[in-house]
Amino acid sequence: MRVAIIGSGIAGLASAAHLARAGHEVTVFERFEDPKPLGAGLLLQPSGLAALDTLGLRTQAEARGARVTRLLGRTPRGRTVLDLRYADGRPGDIGIGIHRASLFQLLLTAAQDAGAQWRTSAGVVWIEDMDTQPRLSLDTGEMTEPFDLALVSDGAHSILRRHVCPNAIERVYPWGALWAVRPDPDGQRDGELDQVYDGCRVMIGLLPIGDDPAHPEAGPSVSFFWSLRTDRVGDWRSAGLQAFKDSVAGYWPRAGQAIAAVDQAETFNEARYLDGVCARWRNGQVLLIGDAAHPMSPQLGQGANLALSDAAALNAALADHAPITRALPAYEKTRRPTVTYYTWMSRLLTPVFQSNSTLIGWVRDLVFGLTCRLPVFRNWMAWTLAGRGRLP
Ligand SMILES: Cc1cc2nc3c(=O)[nH]c(=O)nc-3n(C[C@H](O)[C@H](O)[C@H](O)COP(=O)(O)OP(=O)(O)OC[C@H]3O[C@@H](n4cnc5c(N)ncnc54)[C@H](O)[C@@H]3O)c2cc1C
Repeated sequence: MRVAIIGSGIAGLASAAHLARAGHEVTVFERFEDPKPLGAGLLLQPSGLAALDTLGLRTQAEARGARVTRLLGRTPRGRTVLDLRYADGRPGDIGIGIHRASLFQLLLTAAQDAGAQWRTSAGVVWIEDMDTQPRLSLDTGEMTEPFDLALVSDGAHSILRRHVCPNAIERVYPWGALWAVRPDPDGQRDGELDQVYDGCRVMIGLLPIGDDPAHPEAGPSVSFFWSLRTDRVGDWRSAGLQAFKDSVAGYWPRAGQAIAAVDQAETFNEARYLDGVCARWRNGQVLLIGDAAHPMSPQLGQGANLALSDAAALNAALADHAPITRALPAYEKTRRPTVTYYTWMSRLLTPVFQSNSTLIGWVRDLVFGLTCRLPVFRNWMAWTLAGRGRLP
């Protein structure tokens, strides 16, 4: 088949690698001009690592990233709110924290080695003939040749989602985050995802992510994040960098140390979250995958893992079912129970960690702290974190 893939993010490149290896003629269309080693760190869960393994890339990801065995959340006074070990879900499980650029490079190399073509500065603005042989309209004014299948993997802020699924529901969260990749303050590579919460209004996190491709000489790095309401970014800027650094250090000295050497506010990048549901991911010969199909807040750290699993499942559905009109429904049937589970879990949990509510924060600290000691709850949370959750 001739396959067009729109967007060279995690879902797009993983699909390109799978489908090109399966012998399809794959072209990836990407709006940006050049890849840069930018992006927050990602936590690859056991589910995402299993999907990477189907491409033979797990060992390389582990070598570039950092082993994460535990998720620890505390109040500034040191009271435990969350304490989950991957091994509580299944012995031997770990997560891998990795720089987004490291994962991008691994997937891009795999896709190109398999023969996928990669067109940059090629933003797709519209898709014609979705029912028969889709053709892409590019922002350069070009209309492409027809394809047998078009995958829309242009991310959470997809401009094509509503074209493919006209009734898609989209909601922008009032809260987002500032993040930056920094050298690990203790020079350690492996560790735990560590978070400090003060109610639901303050959340600070440090995730070990191993190599920083932009600064390979800097040693092991961490992804720092700070929860922030999107309408408060202006206030954050006006308050000044030093006030921010002092505030972080006041809540958590180790996080303060991680950002102590930052001398420009621009080091911190802003992320906005979107949540959405598409009743149908396919429309004729066009399929939404990754965040374009199921945008959600990254609170549970599942988006990249779902994207990798989408790509592996699509490849399996295309191998097992023909023609496409049977393969795409089979793919959707396989992925819906997992995606619906995580859509609802992230909707439920996001306000518990990012909202204006004082009451929710108070109840969370009490209830989570206690229930985390119950084996049944710990197992279920670790299972969910590992990416194994799904509706029956
Ligand atoms: C701060 C933050 C932290 C996160 N942490 C985690 C985590 O720890 N673990 C986890 O699993 N997930 C995490 N996520 C979520 C994860 O990043 C996403 O779920 C994942 O990147 C989705 O992959 P994707 O390929 O669907 O989209 P993306 O990776 O967003 O890729 C979309 C691509 O499409 C391109 N594009 C967009 N529009 C067009 C167009 N019109 N034409 C052509 N190209 C286009 C974009 O340039 C981009 O390259 C995090 C997200 C954020 C914001």
